[in-house]
Amino acid sequence: MTPPPAIAVLGSTNMDLVAYVPTAPRLGETVTGSAFRTIPGGKGANQAVAAARAGGAVSMIGAVGADDFGTQLRTALADAHVDTGGLRTVGGASGIAHIVVDDDGGNSIIVVPGANGTVGGLADGDDARIAAAGALLLQLEIPLSGVLAGARAARAHGVRVVLTPAPAQPLPGELLANTDLLVPNEHEAAALTGTSDPYKAAAELLATVPEVVVTLGAEGSLYAARGAEPVLVPAPRVQAEDTTAAGDTFVGALAVASGEGRPMPEALAWASAAAALSVQRAGASASMPYRHEIDAFTG
Ligand code: AMP
Repeated sequence: MTPPPAIAVLGSTNMDLVAYVPTAPRLGETVTGSAFRTIPGGKGANQAVAAARAGGAVSMIGAVGADDFGTQLRTALADAHVDTGGLRTVGGASGIAHIVVDDDGGNSIIVVPGANGTVGGLADGDDARIAAAGALLLQLEIPLSGVLAGARAARAHGVRVVLTPAPAQPLPGELLANTDLLVPNEHEAAALTGTSDPYKAAAELLATVPEVVVTLGAEGSLYAARGAEPVLVPAPRVQAEDTTAAGDTFVGALAVASGEGRPMPEALAWASAAAALSVQRAGASASMPYRHEIDAFTG
């Protein structure tokens, strides 16, 4: 049996504090909610859990605060069999996302980065963790200087850099120059290029990165690589209940499949199956499927 693909994730961990209300309160208003949940999240941690469940040997690099949320976030990753040796505990608060979900499924979110804001570069041992991986997964919920340091280290060691450009923001040229695969959703692709046509956006992004996957929600994903015709990989038709973290599930599973050497169209179909399973269940990491479930779904 071949060993599981080694994947490093450099990024955020957040505790999601989710209040469910009929209608979100306006400024100065108090409303009574129907439920409240604390759910481990953060784009970095979500991608790490998704990749681990999909069968990767995953190492998480980042920071949690010296508070109860920090302990819970670390435990949640360890329970998912993610190596937390690169997850530092720093003074102060853990990152949180304060989320209000209304009866129509609409939400408003406040993110307070906390400990994630301290990940502005690499710490002792991080370079070796990145060098030991086949791919490094990056997102934009830690300072750009930290993302860039990770991308540079990965490039220096010949490790594939997979960047999810979320939350959307302008990207330094050096970050794109050190990225192998860029995975924006359609809104992020539009924000990066100024065009809402995903084919045009992907073509434009290929000027700076060799491979692009634009995720298109229920429509699937568009894969574009230099010198090849773009390929639209349809998403399986399912009844979506909660699309939170669908993109992170997709990226985690994609990293595992391509780390196993599967060709991109096949890896994308497998990642689409993983994401389709996740949207049929509530929650972020709680909804992420295990490898055997993805295999069963793809037949
Ligand atoms: P998004 O971030 O919304 O573009 O979603 C990421 C990926 O999750 C998509 O490329 C699909 O593979 C999958 N996905 C999202 N929404 C749905 C849906 N309603 N039905 C099936 N798959 C979905």
